[in-house]
Amino acid sequence: GNAILSGYGTTIFEAMSRLAGAHNAINLGQGFPDDRGAEDVLQVAARALLEGNNQYPPMMGLPALRQAVAAHAARFYGLDVDWEREVMVTSGATEALAACLFGLIEPGDEVVLFQPLYDSYVPIIRRAGGIPRFVRLQPPGWTVDPDELAAAFSPRTKLVVLNNPLNPAAKVWSAEELRLLADQVIAHDCLAVCDEVYEHLVFDGRRHVPLMTLPGMRGRTLRIGSAGKTFSLTGWKVGYVTAAPDLLQPVAKAHQYLTFSTPPNLQAAVAYGLAKDDAYFGLLAAALEAKRDRLAAGLVSAGLPVLPSEGTYFVVADITGARGLRRGEDDADFCRRLTTDAGVAAIPVSAFYEEGAPTHLIRFCFSKQDAILDSAVMRLKEFF
Ligand code: PMP
Ligand code: GLN
Repeated sequence: GNAILSGYGTTIFEAMSRLAGAHNAINLGQGFPDDRGAEDVLQVAARALLEGNNQYPPMMGLPALRQAVAAHAARFYGLDVDWEREVMVTSGATEALAACLFGLIEPGDEVVLFQPLYDSYVPIIRRAGGIPRFVRLQPPGWTVDPDELAAAFSPRTKLVVLNNPLNPAAKVWSAEELRLLADQVIAHDCLAVCDEVYEHLVFDGRRHVPLMTLPGMRGRTLRIGSAGKTFSLTGWKVGYVTAAPDLLQPVAKAHQYLTFSTPPNLQAAVAYGLAKDDAYFGLLAAALEAKRDRLAAGLVSAGLPVLPSEGTYFVVADITGARGLRRGEDDADFCRRLTTDAGVAAIPVSAFYEEGAPTHLIRFCFSKQDAILDSAVMRLKEFF
């Protein structure tokens, strides 16, 4: 037929947000904050839109933003980044991922991925001709089996995709796990594409460690960030890739045909934002940590035990023993019924699997006003 992309389903985020809208449900599915975002960043953007240039910016991004990305990497991670040769601005992390995968993968290349995984990775990898090799993380700790990890690599491995902190598992990778992964990448002379959009959303005193900072990884890693999560402006779609010049070059080739550039005045505002003081970044994480605790306690009191949440916008609940779970009902059925009947939308964790999905876990987003979180918990208590 002519619908050659018909194999692509509708993403779970769109599907559940639509269902939530149709049923007037509280949407704790798709991950986005319900506040206005960083106010001063909005002001800078508004001024720039009216007074600045609204024509195509340079393909690699505004120098001001590329400099800010390099300065941010030095400030938080001690990375020495050459903004002119090692930073490119993209239209969100989504485009950064697509540019990296299209730019680096040749047909037949193998790509190592961890399940659960973000839903945009595999469709792009397959379209680029790559062959996914999955490593399973074991809940509730989402631990990785070193033997399974080693077995996923081969002489044909081109790259590994790492999402840290990990959506939907809310896992922050430990130093030991990162070392294990770096050892494999180095031993197989391959690359790492690191989706670190939640880099500032880590809790309980944890510190985010980019894989790029591990010994031997600086020249093998492409690090992706996004203003969406860092400034609570998920609609903006301003992302960035940092990598050694020889890695960034093929990615820039893909970028020129994907989007070419990204709205210049949003870039200017993000450049301003990345230079905000440490208090901003600390308060962002602290506010989310309090929301995590609030929702997690509420879910437990409604009869839904939760898994640890170390970072991201998300907490995963176990529905195995939930009152009101029907016989034979899986996580996707349960989420639909929770949306239509309880008025609370969540995301089935099975949507983050290509194969062998668990069917007893659902993901809630807690980056919402306290009153909204409380209402959601009240609805769940009534429902159960
Ligand atoms: N990666 C992960 C793990 C995400 O959760 C998201 C969703 N926000 C993205 C990438 C996409 O980021 P952006 O909105 O910047 O395209
Ligand atoms: N990253 C968001 C989430 O995991 C969704 C983004 C999207 O809708 N594509 O909920």
